[in-house]
Amino acid sequence: GRSLLPLVARAAATDAAAPADPAEETFTYQAEVDRLMDMIVNSLYSNREVFLRELISNASDALDKARFLAVTDPTIMNGREELEIRISSDPAKGTLTIEDSGIGMSREQLLSNLGTIARSGTRKFMEAMASKGDTNLIGQFGVGFYSAFLVADRVTVQSKSPEDSKQWVWESSAGSHQYKLKEDSATDLVRGTRITLHLKEDAAEMSDPVRITRLIKQYSQFIAFPIKVYAPKK
Ligand code: ADP
Ligand code: MG
Repeated sequence: GRSLLPLVARAAATDAAAPADPAEETFTYQAEVDRLMDMIVNSLYSNREVFLRELISNASDALDKARFLAVTDPTIMNGREELEIRISSDPAKGTLTIEDSGIGMSREQLLSNLGTIARSGTRKFMEAMASKGDTNLIGQFGVGFYSAFLVADRVTVQSKSPEDSKQWVWESSAGSHQYKLKEDSATDLVRGTRITLHLKEDAAEMSDPVRITRLIKQYSQFIAFPIKVYAPKK
């Protein structure tokens, strides 16, 4: 079949209406990504807690990469030795944050990884949904990063890669068809990724650490890195 084009090449350039922040660039999702996001949100609605499994699995992959690369290049650790996942929430702000000290993403990696159709699992999910529309199949597929939009109407991704001297921030709102990227005004990440989910009103329960802990036990019990769940900010 036709291979998917590199989506960054097709991403629309900066918005015509100049953004307030001149350093911020706006990109348009590839049509397939829009379609995937619709499919995920429509078909997984009753199973939307899978978002946590997907984000923890991505964090774990990123931690694996950091550990592997550090074997030959110890400078990767950059003084941040712990390889771990931290989950915290702020019920007053309605946010849930998943942070890892994994390999992180450079500017280019943010653009090519979050904005494009992801890997095999997602493709298979789309094919199965298109041919069968069988929501019972969903558990078999990793539906990936975009499942964050099952519970969030806005997703912020801050990341720092050893390959990039700068920390970047990617942000997208559900249904906007766009994502934004700029250099982060914060520079606090030594290495890794922090994903902040601005929870939908009807997903507010996802900021409850008891709920989070239960989901981790249910879906992520074989993750090889510590997952620390912090009490919510008071
Ligand atoms: P998959 O995990 O199947 O590749 P995803 O949609 O879950 O697909 O993620 C897309 C890509 O985004 C990943 O392959 C990875 O390159 C990047 N990514 C997502 N989350 C992280 C993270 N926490 N740290 C580093 N890279 C990440
Ligand atoms: Mg994944």
